[in-house]
Amino acid sequence: MKVIILGGTGDAVKLAAKLVNIPKLEIITSLAGRTLKPSALVGNYRIGGFGGELGLINYLKEQKIDLLIDATHPCAGQISWHGAIACKVAKIPHLMLVRPQWQKVEGDRWIEVASVKAAAQIIPELGTRAFITSGRQQLEPFFNLAKLNPQMWFLLRSIDPPDLVIPNSQVILDRGPFHLDQERQLLKDYQIEVIVSKNSGGDATSAKLIAARELNMPIVMIQRPPMPEAETVNSIEGAISWIKKFI
Ligand code: NAP
Repeated sequence: MKVIILGGTGDAVKLAAKLVNIPKLEIITSLAGRTLKPSALVGNYRIGGFGGELGLINYLKEQKIDLLIDATHPCAGQISWHGAIACKVAKIPHLMLVRPQWQKVEGDRWIEVASVKAAAQIIPELGTRAFITSGRQQLEPFFNLAKLNPQMWFLLRSIDPPDLVIPNSQVILDRGPFHLDQERQLLKDYQIEVIVSKNSGGDATSAKLIAARELNMPIVMIQRPPMPEAETVNSIEGAISWIKKFI
């Protein structure tokens, strides 16, 4: 059976590594090609967009794919909709592997917003030194804010260098997991006053939430986009059990 995993996450890497050990499965992981040096993958892979939902439908048919697992980042909305629609049209079983969201607990100072643009609008009310952890895509709102508000300063952390250089900013190139000591120290060293994060869920980048809580620091938390209705699991084990139903 040919299984395609829509990837770009640590969960997709771990899932492929488990599935290649199951006889009768051929695993292909699909990456968008955003990261210069993606994490090492076990099994076959392909890189680059499909050319919209029609492109994905054609790919599924041409490659005779039997099952599709969407293990993309929970904020990668477009590809998940394409996956759901393409599977419906091509009549292929479809599963979404979605990490649970982070939940606010006592002591957290989260300001929940719907978009990166909304995050940038609210930052100046919360502080002048902002730690941007929402990735190197969609930096325009922070760029515009820096232009409008020269007293703002930004620390941006991303895996690869951003294409857009924000005035008054410093970039740290790093890939999680990040540990609590490291996050605590970073927030202190750079005198951060506010953090911007997506609600990614998972453990790899959650230490900053604890560090912020300890320091009573606000986090502008960007909510996940709407996702298609689909059969969904929240763990790699759940995805493996789903696949085994078809073998
Ligand atoms: P997106 O907005 O949902 O997708 C934009 C376009 O990128 C899609 O229409 C598709 O192009 C292509 N694409 C996305 N994921 C793909 C995949 N796994 N394989 C092949 N093509 C893919 O996605 P995004 O937010 O830019 O994220 C891109 C990738 O980075 C995803 O794989 C995601 O898992 C990973 N990622 C995203 C975030 C985030 O915060 N958004 C964080 C960490 C990792 P076509 O229409 O041409 O097919």
